[in-house]
Amino acid sequence: MVTGYCVVCGRPDKENGKNIEMMDSPKPKINQTARGGYMAKGICSKCKKTKMCAMMSKDNAEKAIESGEAEKDF
Ligand SMILES: [Zn+2]
Repeated sequence: MVTGYCVVCGRPDKENGKNIEMMDSPKPKINQTARGGYMAKGICSKCKKTKMCAMMSKDNAEKAIESGEAEKDF
């Protein structure tokens, strides 16, 4: 699962916004950053409206794309 931080769900308690799964549909998209890192962008599955992004390791990014959890966008 691709998870990230939601600023809306994390308000006022930041802990609540951590490690929230991104929605399956639309699927999270994984981009490669200029520095060669991987960044997943998706929508919070908890409040279903907030855009969220998360840095991912190469391994996790490739795994998520391979398993169909996220779309390759680079
Ligand atoms: Zn949220």
